[in-house]
Amino acid sequence: MIPITSVQDIDVRGKRVLCRFDFNVPIKDGIIGDDWRLKAALPTIQYLIGQKARIIMMSHLDRPGGKRVEKLTLAPIAMRLGELLGKEVKFVDETVGQKVVEAAKDLKEGELLLLENTRFQQEENTNDSEFVEKLASLATVYINDAFGTAHRKHASTYGVAIAMKERAAGLLMLKEVENLSKLLMDPPAPFSLILGGAKLKTKIPVIKNLAHFIDNLIIGGGMAFSFLREKGVPVGDSLVDETLFPDIEALRSILEENNVRLILPLDAVITEEIGEGVDCEVVDIGSIPSAWKGVDIGPATIEYFTSVIIKSKTVFWNGPMGVFEVPPFDKGTLEIAKAMGKATERGSLTIVGGGDTDKAIKGRHIELSHLSTGGGASLRFLTGEELPAISMLKKRR
Ligand code: AMP
Repeated sequence: MIPITSVQDIDVRGKRVLCRFDFNVPIKDGIIGDDWRLKAALPTIQYLIGQKARIIMMSHLDRPGGKRVEKLTLAPIAMRLGELLGKEVKFVDETVGQKVVEAAKDLKEGELLLLENTRFQQEENTNDSEFVEKLASLATVYINDAFGTAHRKHASTYGVAIAMKERAAGLLMLKEVENLSKLLMDPPAPFSLILGGAKLKTKIPVIKNLAHFIDNLIIGGGMAFSFLREKGVPVGDSLVDETLFPDIEALRSILEENNVRLILPLDAVITEEIGEGVDCEVVDIGSIPSAWKGVDIGPATIEYFTSVIIKSKTVFWNGPMGVFEVPPFDKGTLEIAKAMGKATERGSLTIVGGGDTDKAIKGRHIELSHLSTGGGASLRFLTGEELPAISMLKKRR
């Protein structure tokens, strides 16, 4: 595992600590839908409170595009965090500026302050040096616990880390790195990698990097149709990215060289139009009519994928098996989530990489070894690339 400095390795007692969290939770009309990302940050916050640190918290929420978007204010998050902690969380409706400087200065030992959405400032995404300076001047220590944005070179995730001499990872960041590292360090065999969703391009480097570890590559979701089409199977109007055919061909050779079994769907749920209550049918994978598209894996595929998953000793899954936002096309994804739960019960190492896939797990009493808070970040981690934010937290001699 990458040797990382933990918040517990450094002295934060009584100090002003600037912390980056990933409080990117769904909010509708000011009401928070699912607060699991807030709960995941609590151990670090509670540790800092216990150390009587003066805690200045930053996070992004969604993509406001570098300007103030009222519905994306972090004010409801300050309230919810206050409820979860049983302690006041002060809030300023600015990310930098005089109000922020004063609020940070006024913090007493163990008190908490949340700054406004970092992405209300254009300078966040461009890692602007003046913006970085303003943030860094608020505190003497920097803690990054935002694994979900660890692949971003933004001001609050990267620039500030460089600007601040004392820096460390929060407890969630450490837990994420520790768990995902298990997949890259002698994972128990057989190892099944399950990928789904629409964007094949972002997942190709993961397959390449993991090829010599994995025994099975299970592909579902929209991505599967590019693999099928490339092999000459008719897929009707399903999602296909022909520009990636050369990459798929190259991948097939890599998989063959590494003795990896490529497992594709046997059947599909198809429809002419995506929407709730539309007509749909189940067909064998080679029998999708030209005007129809595959929107979920079918029952034979669920059974097939499940049988492989429950026999695996290591499983990593990212990406839905179908257009899971539109029921009943969520069935395949939910069934794969259940199979992951069964594999966990059998003692296997089961890890799900955030993003959309976590929605199939939560609230369903499905146990996993680890549910990552970062979709894009966990995929990037598994490509073997060093994530910019994590590289800044490495132990220094
Ligand atoms: P990704 O960001 O690559 O993980 O893709 C997630 C998206 O893939 C979700 O919004 C799903 O609706 C979409 N998706 C999954 N399966 C299909 C499919 N068969 N056809 C079209 N989109 C799909």
